[in-house]
Amino acid sequence: MIRIRRILAPTDFSDHTMPAVRYAAELADKFGAELILLHVVPDTVLALPDAVMPTPAPMADLNALIEAGRTGLANLVAALKLERHKPRTEVRLGSPEREIVAAAKDLHADLVCITTHGRGGIARVLLGSVAEMIVRHAPCPVLTVRPGAC
Ligand code: ADP
Repeated sequence: MIRIRRILAPTDFSDHTMPAVRYAAELADKFGAELILLHVVPDTVLALPDAVMPTPAPMADLNALIEAGRTGLANLVAALKLERHKPRTEVRLGSPEREIVAAAKDLHADLVCITTHGRGGIARVLLGSVAEMIVRHAPCPVLTVRPGAC
């Protein structure tokens, strides 16, 4: 029997990703599942641009970015009125596609909801690069929603 107990909704905070978060929340309601909102602070911010040697970002800056991610998720919960779903929120640091797939595994997600495009928003390609890697490697089904779908 198919059981949907946890639904993972990763977001880069762009408007494009909101339909997938809404789908995740509605489906969580219908299945009585836990809603998990995830933001990954990309590890590209770890290296500051330097022509010769990348310089690691200072710890204080990383902590500020992670804190900004936490605030962003709290604002998203308020903006989409998701409080009644009591969503779990999580911020990770690393490669977005790798961290999202890893989160789906270690949080035992039964479904991942994403939009086909995010901040990059290149409509020419079928899927954004993060979306494609999630569809390829997620351990569970992935629902892909077009940004303008709802
Ligand atoms: P694009 O290339 O158009 O930006 P992506 O493949 O990056 O598209 O985004 C597709 C999906 O992946 C979106 O639902 C987006 O929220 C999710 N995603 C992308 N980057 C992140 C991130 N840093 N943290 C969480 N989710 C992300």
